[in-house]
Amino acid sequence: MMNGTQYLESLKRRSPRIFYRGKRLANPYDHPALAPHVRTAAVTYDLAANGKHDDIMTATSALDGTKISRFTHLFWSVDDLIRKIAMLRLIGRETGTCFQRCVGVDGINAIWSVTYEIDRAKGTGYHKRFREFLLRLQREDLMSAGAMTDPKGDRSLPPWQQADPDLYVRIVERRSDGIVIRGSKTHITGAANSHEILVMPTLGLPPEGADYAVTCAVPIDAPGVTVVFGRQTNDERKEEEGRFDCGTPFGIVGGESTLIFEDVFVPDERVFMAGEGEFAGALVERFSAWHRANYGGCKGGNADVLLGATALLAEIHGTIKNAVVRDKLTEIVHLVETNYAGAVGSSALARQLPAGNWLVDPLLANTVKQNVTRFVYQVARLTHDIAGGILSTLPSDADFRSGEIGGLLEKYFAGKQGFSTGDKRKLIRYIEGMTSVATLVEALHGAGSPQAQRIVMLRQADLPEKARQAKKVIGIKDGDPKDK
Ligand code: SF4
Ligand code: FE
Repeated sequence: MMNGTQYLESLKRRSPRIFYRGKRLANPYDHPALAPHVRTAAVTYDLAANGKHDDIMTATSALDGTKISRFTHLFWSVDDLIRKIAMLRLIGRETGTCFQRCVGVDGINAIWSVTYEIDRAKGTGYHKRFREFLLRLQREDLMSAGAMTDPKGDRSLPPWQQADPDLYVRIVERRSDGIVIRGSKTHITGAANSHEILVMPTLGLPPEGADYAVTCAVPIDAPGVTVVFGRQTNDERKEEEGRFDCGTPFGIVGGESTLIFEDVFVPDERVFMAGEGEFAGALVERFSAWHRANYGGCKGGNADVLLGATALLAEIHGTIKNAVVRDKLTEIVHLVETNYAGAVGSSALARQLPAGNWLVDPLLANTVKQNVTRFVYQVARLTHDIAGGILSTLPSDADFRSGEIGGLLEKYFAGKQGFSTGDKRKLIRYIEGMTSVATLVEALHGAGSPQAQRIVMLRQADLPEKARQAKKVIGIKDGDPKDK
């Protein structure tokens, strides 16, 4: 396994084509826009390598018996799934933000299970290929980004009827030794600082959409791959590294990128689905279920930091003993632990898939994510309520450092005796950053937009069965209405 420093060095040995604000970055991993996100992902390596959390950060590979990071592990049991949620809460608490690496672990589990089933139904050899790829991922402790969401163009039309057929990633050529893919994937968490990109379809596909049913692994610096790193609110503050106005040395959400594939050749050994559209839906649903359950863990860890910061700020404001403030803090606890309970519960009720790994309960997993789309906003509102208007009006760090007015600002922004104005400003900037629009939108649309969960929830809830049960309990009999 690598530690954080080795992870950074391993990234620097690659030369991906990364653009940010109109320019190709020569040293992307040192650039202030990316560096905080790289630092955050590096925590996933440090916590696994330092031996202090072995029980949740590491696992034993079922493929070769070696000790590996849990981020490259298949979920072989309920225990594995619960430990994953505990790991996400731990890292969420250590970083206070999205650490990006979970998309890859959910991706490898989805691909593991679906390649097994494709091979069994069609006599293909995808699963063995994937096993080889996964062994390398485990041995080299690589970070993989899960690339599922396509730009989608006109959403009323399927991929193959779009005016531009490239609006969903597709196979444009089949060669004797591999395939050529073209298209784009958007909002891809941690992509710029991953070693590998796991390309997966975004929806189930009928036979006419077979070219869009493609799952494969592409190195981040493969010829033809371009990464465009996204913008965020307040991102120019990252240029002031180490200054108070940054809010946090870590990233704010997952450093999402748009990926562009311009006729990228993928050799056979990296292709895990090429046309079997009838299996694409299962891949999407399983990946989504695992990833949606995660949010009860990682967002819980993030909220632990946010709750702590808000309570500290209330102490500096002198309001911490106020019953109304305490009640609002209690409400944050309630919202966070409700989601954590759902994440653990969906793991506890997992079932084994034919390939041997275990899938979380989809109804509970989707309910967790649905709650996150609301609760993260509610938590943010409560922190804003307690912190006060100063969250959006605090003068800049440069003003506090000004020889002319800094002393005046120190005087007038003082809080309770015994606390520095600097600490107060740090807390305000952290809460501001971690409840910014980037964080809220990630909670709403990350791992699928609210409606995507509701579709699964209603299907999984099995209304006909519930109606039958209602009839039984109430005493309603089927048959001629006149008989009743
Ligand atoms: Fe992991 Fe959470 Fe970030 Fe998703 S949002 S990648 S689960 S930390
Ligand atoms: Fe996410």
